[in-house]
Amino acid sequence: MTRYIFCTGGVVSSLGKGVTAASVGRILKARGLSVVIQKLDPYINVDPGTMSPYQHGEVYVLEDGTETDLDLGHYERFTDVNLFRHANVTTGQIYAEIIARERRGDFLGGTVQVIPHVTDEIKRRIRLMAEESGADVVIVEIGGTVGDIESLPFLEAIRQMRKDVGPDNVCYIHLTLLPYIGATGELKTKPTQHSVRELRGIGIHPDVLACRADYPITPDLLDKIALFGDVDREAVIPLETADTIYKVPLMLEEAGLGNYLVRRLHLDAGPPDLDDWRDLVHRLRHPRGEVKIALVGKYVGLHDAYLSVHEALLHAAAYHDCKLVLDWVDSEKLEKKDVAARLCQSDGIVVPGGFGERGIEGMIATARYARLNKVPYLGLCLGLQVMVIELARHALSDEAANSAEFAPGTAHPVVDLMLEQRGIKDMGGTMRLGAYPCVLQEGTKARAAYGVECVWERHRHRYEINNAYREILQEAGMVWSGLSPKGNLVEIGEIRDHPWMVGSQFHPEFKTRPNRPHPLFREFIRAAIEHGARR
Ligand code: GLN
Repeated sequence: MTRYIFCTGGVVSSLGKGVTAASVGRILKARGLSVVIQKLDPYINVDPGTMSPYQHGEVYVLEDGTETDLDLGHYERFTDVNLFRHANVTTGQIYAEIIARERRGDFLGGTVQVIPHVTDEIKRRIRLMAEESGADVVIVEIGGTVGDIESLPFLEAIRQMRKDVGPDNVCYIHLTLLPYIGATGELKTKPTQHSVRELRGIGIHPDVLACRADYPITPDLLDKIALFGDVDREAVIPLETADTIYKVPLMLEEAGLGNYLVRRLHLDAGPPDLDDWRDLVHRLRHPRGEVKIALVGKYVGLHDAYLSVHEALLHAAAYHDCKLVLDWVDSEKLEKKDVAARLCQSDGIVVPGGFGERGIEGMIATARYARLNKVPYLGLCLGLQVMVIELARHALSDEAANSAEFAPGTAHPVVDLMLEQRGIKDMGGTMRLGAYPCVLQEGTKARAAYGVECVWERHRHRYEINNAYREILQEAGMVWSGLSPKGNLVEIGEIRDHPWMVGSQFHPEFKTRPNRPHPLFREFIRAAIEHGARR
């Protein structure tokens, strides 16, 4: 029998509900249980694939090509479990499904309503997670905060789940904030009390209250919250702001949440084994050196837009016992002439993914700086395309060589729309998405990093390296180190006679794990550390 843990949030958003859900997954997995995590997003978009990074942060891509909320990245990284299509449900998907059924006549003349039709469809998707994974525990995070109009059908659905699967098989965790009042120097519980009352008004009685605060939470406060929230004292979990998100599973375990959940849900679980996790947190908090990386992108004002890239760099730096010092460089503000001055303090440079023309010239200048000055460089999707444009401008002696995305009329479209992409009009879910195989060529840096011949990596792009220019670029110093099995698509390119300049058409950052950094990030950071030592 699958158990369900529902995570809701109250008081304010951005409390780290995603990290908390992911951490609950980690501590249960540490006891030998199988866990999957699902996110219910109340917005009406079908998926975040068409949303601006400014609205939504990063779009996280799953193996099967589903474009999802960035919290799914936390889930996969914390639990080391690959998730699939049903792990991210939106209001848009629910309504699209119901309206299609209504048009087919499936409701036989009945009136289609939020209760039961919308709530039934939500519950069907929650149960699908259990059926498809066969996991012991399905953790479900509900996006937004209690009190939002748009999340009401989701909350009603998870309320009903208690009756559907039995009260012993569901558990509700509510995450709230204890604000700090500077004038009196104390944390306040009143917003939490209100939030619990709001949740109860909907018919959900929380089992666990996880309380976030920027200051230490004293035991008397926890007593008070237990009393007013009508929750077991041991189920009030203090979550003081941590210096690294990877500490959260350890904090939950120490606060006794693991034991509580095992008892509350009658789980057949062993003792927790979090040794490797403790080791990771220790390495993150006690680095022996540091590595300075410049991230040259167009959404740098918004760190969430590059969340997985940041985590991948962090995992790789921790692997080398180094502290990651990240310099966020706005490519739009980077003029050709000041690239060297801006980047000369960096041990390595990352050019991440992106769409649209803004900021591209700054990235191309960055790639030129990295190539000529032999600075380690990692290009992620757009970062590979930029690296190719730069080399092509040099090889063809034509500064107008470009991607058809940024200069549709260019005489040299060295990066061009993929054949399958021509004629596509719909923007949603139509890119080259998800995991594809990549064959690594013998004797290359990419092959050495991975140590195997074939890998599967996740894609999200419409453009690709134009095969017509492959040879001339090769003569100019490019090595096509990763290709599709048929050899018709470039997956990885690297610069010959350079310490480490590698770009991939896929997004390796989606497959990094805290204790198993992605090979390309791991070797990039190694090269950056060596460059730093030489510098
Ligand atoms: N805009 C480029 C393309 O569509 C790169 C996409 C990306 O970096 N994910 O091919």
